[in-house]
Amino acid sequence: MSSTERGSLPALFLFDDSDKLSAMTRRRWIADEYEGDGAALTGQNAAHLARVLRARVGQEFDIAVGDRVRRGRITSVAEDRVDFALGEDLAIGEAQPITLCLAVFKFDRFEWAVEKCTEIGVAKIVPVIARRTEPHLAKAATKRRERWEKIAREAAQQSRRSSVPEIAEPVKLKIGIASSPGLRIVLAENERQVMLRDVVAPEPLALAVGPEGGWTPEELEEFDTQGWKRASLGETILRAETAAIAAVAVATAFGE
Ligand code: SAH
Repeated sequence: MSSTERGSLPALFLFDDSDKLSAMTRRRWIADEYEGDGAALTGQNAAHLARVLRARVGQEFDIAVGDRVRRGRITSVAEDRVDFALGEDLAIGEAQPITLCLAVFKFDRFEWAVEKCTEIGVAKIVPVIARRTEPHLAKAATKRRERWEKIAREAAQQSRRSSVPEIAEPVKLKIGIASSPGLRIVLAENERQVMLRDVVAPEPLALAVGPEGGWTPEELEEFDTQGWKRASLGETILRAETAAIAAVAVATAFGE
């Protein structure tokens, strides 16, 4: 084909060649069901693949099944179900497990934090009810969990992670403080000495970020008592969602 002919093709044509597209950017899907050498997407994921991406039998995708990612070849397509035959295992980067204890704050901003921290690579988010979490948000948090799970799932898919971060049941801060694993760091805007980048290490980490009104002095003492280290993200006061995203980004930069 001459370049003139190519130039006269409608631009959409180039993007409609889904075989080429999938080979270039082979999308990663997280299986809704799997067993042995078979896996399936169902519901919205299937509809998206079938209708929007016009999946066809024989096309290949990367399919995350449990803690593995395998090559998957489509064996059947319907609007509500796409089946795959699973083949070779693909190498997956082991994420440094980061648990984020995130104080519940305004839901639109909280959702933003869930999405972005998932993209960057958080392993688990524990929504915590802090002293300065607004009472009506604290009350509604448990019911929101399903929505946060959906946001995390979509963000994991989108960023081609091989796993979806766990969104824990919202708990009182005291429980979050006591139960978090690994090297534990509380982000505190009034910490002046210790920078987060100087305390993170390539090991399992727990990071805690406060609500819009910040931690109370009593809460910071409770963190101290339970062996958490205080750390700063710099001299400016960040909004809670910005602090969460920045903290996870700094921490993953030190992962192996
Ligand atoms: N209400 C406070 C700010 C709270 S910011 C004020 O206006 O003074 C919300 C949360 O983000 C804090 O609890 C802390 O966990 C985190 N945060 C914001 N800026 C930070 C910084 N510079 N260093 C560390 N943590 C920060």
